[in-house]
Amino acid sequence: MHCPFCGHDDSKVIDSRESPDGVRRRRECTGCGLRFTTYERVHTTPLFLAKSDGRREPFSTDKLERSLRIACAKRPLEVGAIGKIVTDIDSELHRLGKAEVESRVVGEMVMERLRELDRVAYIRYASVYRDFEDLDTFAQEVEALRDESSDNPKPQLRLIEDDVPRIADRGRRRRTRRAVSGD
Ligand SMILES: [Zn+2]
Repeated sequence: MHCPFCGHDDSKVIDSRESPDGVRRRRECTGCGLRFTTYERVHTTPLFLAKSDGRREPFSTDKLERSLRIACAKRPLEVGAIGKIVTDIDSELHRLGKAEVESRVVGEMVMERLRELDRVAYIRYASVYRDFEDLDTFAQEVEALRDESSDNPKPQLRLIEDDVPRIADRGRRRRTRRAVSGD
């Protein structure tokens, strides 16, 4: 659990009570001393994510939060925006009432929210975490974004375009490595 103000990863619980949204905890960051509130749900059944390669792994809000922090690094977001997405997705997933959900579904949930929140974070997340079938699909996504925001000024778009060659390079490197190792 990271402090929403300074990012420090340790806090002490100063109050804890049941609420309709789960266990409400008031926390104090041991780094900067500021206080924040978290809601923790008690889930009776663990939720598993099924990956496209057939592996399964337990759903982890920590892991989800980490991936969001990477995608949102240095973006001018409101305090607590990432935590809110994590809580949101966690409840939506558990509302489905399934023991197993395709990891792609979680990816879509993240994309949906990042798209609203911050376009640059959205593109970063899309390029790293979403299993795009190929670079054409990725190019289509970028194209769609460009169409939508054509009435907006350019700063975010320029960043998106800057990201494309790097992502293309990465795909190329991966293919080269595969060719060399022969599988
Ligand atoms: Zn702090």
